[in-house]
Amino acid sequence: MNALNKVTKTTCPYCGVGCGVEATVHDNGEVTVKGDKSHPSNFGRLCSKGSALGDTVSSDNRLLYPQINGQRVGWDTALDTISQKLSDIVEEHGPDAVAFYVSGQLLTEDYYVANKLMKGFIGSANIDTNSRLCMSSAVAGYKRAFGVDAVPCNYEDLEQADLIVIEGSNTAWCHPVVFQRIVKAKQERPELKVVVIDPRKTATCDIADIHLPLRSGTDTTLFNGLLHYLAENDVIDHDFVSAHTDGFEAATTAAKQQTLSVVAEQCDLTEADVLAFYKLFADTEKVVTLYSQGVNQSSSGTDNSNSIINCHLATGRIGKPAMGPFSITGQPNAMGGREVGGLANQLAAHMDIHNPQHHDIVSRFWKTDNLATEQGAKAVDLFRDVESGKIKAVWVMATNPVVSLPDADQVKNALEKCELVIVSDCEANTDTTEHADVLLPAQGWSEKDGTVTNSERRISHQRGFLTPVGEAKADWWIISEVAKRMGFAEAFPYQSAVEVFREHAALSAFENEGQRDFDIGLMADISEQDYEQLEPIQWPVNAENPNGKQRLFEDKRYFTDNGRAKFIAIEPHLPLNQVSTEYPLVLNTGRIRDQWHTMTRTARSSKLNAHLPEPFVEVSDDDIARYQLEEGGLALVQSAWGSVIVRVQQSESVKSGNIFISMHWNAQYASLARVDAAVNPAVDPISGQPESKHTPVNIKAYQPEWYGFVLSHQPLNLNECDYWTKIKGQQFWRYEIAGEQALDSYDDWVKQLTDVSGDWLVFEDASANRYRAALIVDNKIELVAMFGPDHDLPSRSWLSQLFSEPELNDEMRNALLAGRPGAGLPDVGPIVCACFGVGENTIKDAISCGKAKSVDDLGQQLKAGTNCGSCIPELKKLLQSA
Ligand code: SF4
Repeated sequence: MNALNKVTKTTCPYCGVGCGVEATVHDNGEVTVKGDKSHPSNFGRLCSKGSALGDTVSSDNRLLYPQINGQRVGWDTALDTISQKLSDIVEEHGPDAVAFYVSGQLLTEDYYVANKLMKGFIGSANIDTNSRLCMSSAVAGYKRAFGVDAVPCNYEDLEQADLIVIEGSNTAWCHPVVFQRIVKAKQERPELKVVVIDPRKTATCDIADIHLPLRSGTDTTLFNGLLHYLAENDVIDHDFVSAHTDGFEAATTAAKQQTLSVVAEQCDLTEADVLAFYKLFADTEKVVTLYSQGVNQSSSGTDNSNSIINCHLATGRIGKPAMGPFSITGQPNAMGGREVGGLANQLAAHMDIHNPQHHDIVSRFWKTDNLATEQGAKAVDLFRDVESGKIKAVWVMATNPVVSLPDADQVKNALEKCELVIVSDCEANTDTTEHADVLLPAQGWSEKDGTVTNSERRISHQRGFLTPVGEAKADWWIISEVAKRMGFAEAFPYQSAVEVFREHAALSAFENEGQRDFDIGLMADISEQDYEQLEPIQWPVNAENPNGKQRLFEDKRYFTDNGRAKFIAIEPHLPLNQVSTEYPLVLNTGRIRDQWHTMTRTARSSKLNAHLPEPFVEVSDDDIARYQLEEGGLALVQSAWGSVIVRVQQSESVKSGNIFISMHWNAQYASLARVDAAVNPAVDPISGQPESKHTPVNIKAYQPEWYGFVLSHQPLNLNECDYWTKIKGQQFWRYEIAGEQALDSYDDWVKQLTDVSGDWLVFEDASANRYRAALIVDNKIELVAMFGPDHDLPSRSWLSQLFSEPELNDEMRNALLAGRPGAGLPDVGPIVCACFGVGENTIKDAISCGKAKSVDDLGQQLKAGTNCGSCIPELKKLLQSA
């Protein structure tokens, strides 16, 4: 059913911005994408990841058919086996002996069915989602304050605000289109102020009027201090506070300790900077506080969240245009998961597992007498229970916990010990599928069809436009088929995604009567055609709000017992695991610009891989000197839980005493770079969200005998090297390698890597321990390998360019032997603009020769930054440093 030459409107499968995408399949099978100008979340914009979606739809490494213990089986066999084994385990050990670990990558319909099966019919709440890792603290914070998990704001509020406080979010890289909307608003209204609160000086600071690089883990101190300042200076909306809230006195009393000097000292900021922020907040009516993982991924994540909400409640800045506490989600359908109760402590449709009335409503609606009564195991505990044997079967759907959970080696051990591991995924080889007893091929983006909800509560249709590969099936279908075989056929009769959606919508309205925020009851009878043509819409969608609702709480009514919002009295506490002499540095983790989650999809795109092609650690100048590291060398980073070996990158973005490593790398692409293996498993006691931003570690230089790299037209297996990373480039694979034992002969080692025959060009200087070789076939480059005693090796960006050359001339051959680019093919340098492959050296040349004085000039001359704009902060940085 490939929709040839037809434009399909769908949504991007990456971050929670939820951009609309127009995809076209061409006659030659190529898929191109562009931003959907009619989609109200992005109005045609896409970031680098969204722009490269067309590169990611190949069938390479796709899981094509069901497998049991590595053997291909038919769907019936796989489904019968799963249902029989799950039923047997439940019968013998009870419902809590099985668990589902699901994902914000699932569509709402998939999520709904998974939750219904586990909580409603198996009778356990042991279903949790990887969204636990990104925003469960925000959910818990909203619930404590408003009685429900309700995001009050929308993206327009950001554009209309006079002050945006961005806390714990590198929006420029992690939610790039929202960032672009803020950038444009600031260009149009320079009076719009931006305060960035982040221990790191990230690309987001590019637009900051104030950057507060606070000490990691002191967010509640800073915001308690703000509440205290607002109270002291009477910047309080007394009418709102007295009529619509509870707990103001207790919250301000608790915040009294956080005086300006205490805040400055504890947050490691100057009093002047803290005061400047507090004054700006106090003096500006239209304030949105935008927050993300830096707030949520903390052992006080829920308190962090409430300390922000407290300040908005105190000033009455909520439920009005351009104001409010706005948690932005990491995943494309984290919000959809919240709506259907994908977290272990929720029921469907934003109902509570411990609320008897909600329990009764859901039980009657689903016609079940087996609905779970107690909350299930949250992500970190869930895999602990798998390891201890309490959970005997786990079904992982559309996620990769062996890479993404903290203390990730524990997850690996747990899966190894587990009696039954089922994994449904679209990828064949991931760190998690390696442990599966049963593998089920799921449809991927471009094939599956259903709905997603973005960070501003906007429900959009994600449409399929390619024929599913192999025997891949929709997740809702797979789960329903298992449910039927477990004896629950009547409750899982679905023949299509729209049937699931209708039921989900109907449950949201069932006996609701305005008591619950999530209500999309008006779509409970949606026709197939209307579902197919569904336009993006922000819930609630009910009789009162037939066209959806931009903003919540305009009526100042909250979903608490008495309809009043709750202040929470906060006592700040520091992260659970503190630095010590053994582990003196704080490890912070997060995303990079051009990769997504555990790279299973984005690493298919050579364009995206070009920006940061190797796992790295950002280290300050001070710490490079203190720990005797070298920029470009390798470092071993160790915590009490695990370790990684990564490339050292000198960085001004981290303060002394702190390092940063990206969370994407996995064992498919690097020997030892799964940073979550080193991340501590401390969690927030309320939300269960892990403290992924603060792990005590040490760092030391990793000094192998030799360093090298190989660029090869064909993929190779270099996993025997002590250190290796691999990444796909344009017509080549790039391997960075290093070894602890000297090789007998570089030449022998290199020449056994490939069966391809051709002409070898070889340069060897045994006394200097340097070796360079290139294999030329039909006057084109097939393989390049270069080795040396240190990390100072020839430029990979220049050599990469040679793979796109139609033929090698003499100058290029000589340059290969010399290990230096010749004048005929200058080195473009590391890629900055992924969309047009513009390198750092090209940009620097344009700047230094005076041709480019601004980002616009660079765009005009090199096209850099003119497509998605994700690289603009880096272009500005290059201009500034010049
Ligand atoms: Fe996708 Fe980028 Fe939009 Fe996020 S900002 S939804 S990654 S295009």
